Amino acid sequence: MKMKAALLYEYNKPLVYEEVAVPDFQSDEILVQVKACGMCRSDVQLIDGYFHKYADIPRPITPGHEITGVVSKIGSTVPKSSFKEGDHVVVAPGWGDGTCRHCQIGNTQICANVRWPGFGPYGGFAEYLPVPARYLIKVGKNLKFEELAPLTDAGLTTYRGIKKLRDSGALGPDRVMGVFGVGGLGAYAVQYAKLLGSGATVVAFARNSEKLAVAKEYGADHIINIKGKSQEDVAKELKSATGQSEVDAAIDCAGAQEMVQLATGILGISGHYVDVGLVGDRIDIPLFPRVHREQTIQGSFWGNNNDLSEVMALAAHGKIRHTIKTFGFEEINKQIDLLRSGEIIGRGVLKF
Ligand SMILES: [Zn+2]
Repeated sequence: MKMKAALLYEYNKPLVYEEVAVPDFQSDEILVQVKACGMCRSDVQLIDGYFHKYADIPRPITPGHEITGVVSKIGSTVPKSSFKEGDHVVVAPGWGDGTCRHCQIGNTQICANVRWPGFGPYGGFAEYLPVPARYLIKVGKNLKFEELAPLTDAGLTTYRGIKKLRDSGALGPDRVMGVFGVGGLGAYAVQYAKLLGSGATVVAFARNSEKLAVAKEYGADHIINIKGKSQEDVAKELKSATGQSEVDAAIDCAGAQEMVQLATGILGISGHYVDVGLVGDRIDIPLFPRVHREQTIQGSFWGNNNDLSEVMALAAHGKIRHTIKTFGFEEINKQIDLLRSGEIIGRGVLKF
């Protein structure tokens, strides 16, 4: 049997559309028929060679890691009670080896031997892929595939990041929380900030007024357009909006150098900053304020199975809103170019 796949043979070149064989699957795996796959900034980075210095992945690579679909075939050792053909599923990313201490407590996405759909031979820019059964979560058939797909990364990474802020004690009714960058990730971050923020005032910071309007619609208490403004200007605007010129907690959904400098520059005493965006490659911030103000700067990476289960429960209760534009298989390269230039509001999702 053949399937459509968009393959990365060479960095900095368009993906190649091909008809290839439907992959085999192991006895503990399920063959998933992909129904929708979100397109992520990290797909662009993969194609542009950003990760190449960290991992030399054999090519061709099938990109696409925000995957949802239908159970097509089930491996012989998958417990009979767990899945049946036709079940709707989302694919939890970050497939660990299952043996290390990180895997043992569920954080398979930070396993040293992790495998990723979309960063190897199999991904969501193809009609089928094999997935270890333990990395599938069954979802209700009433949920839309195009809305489920981004929840496996954009809507998962931000959820885990904000859980870290909550667990650190940085959120609460007398706190101001900043969401920096409101592209594909930030639109979800604003909603989780309201859901998990224990009453914190949520302020979205970005350079694009259309994206900020989405943040406002999704519950941001205040929005601040930072384009062309100095840190002092932004702090002043923050003070007139919230009564304080610093944020107590921050999630950086962009990771661009100027955004990192702004977010850490207006971080308050004992402030907690979580980093999930990867647009830039290095951060350069002054050391003394970090030390004498006892600030925490913490990385947060994607999400684990439990995080994703929680996100799916929120989705099932209709708590998550989406800004989504679907596109067809032949439009993948065009959408990659649009995403690279920052012209996409919300999330672009490939729909088969
Ligand atoms: Zn492991």
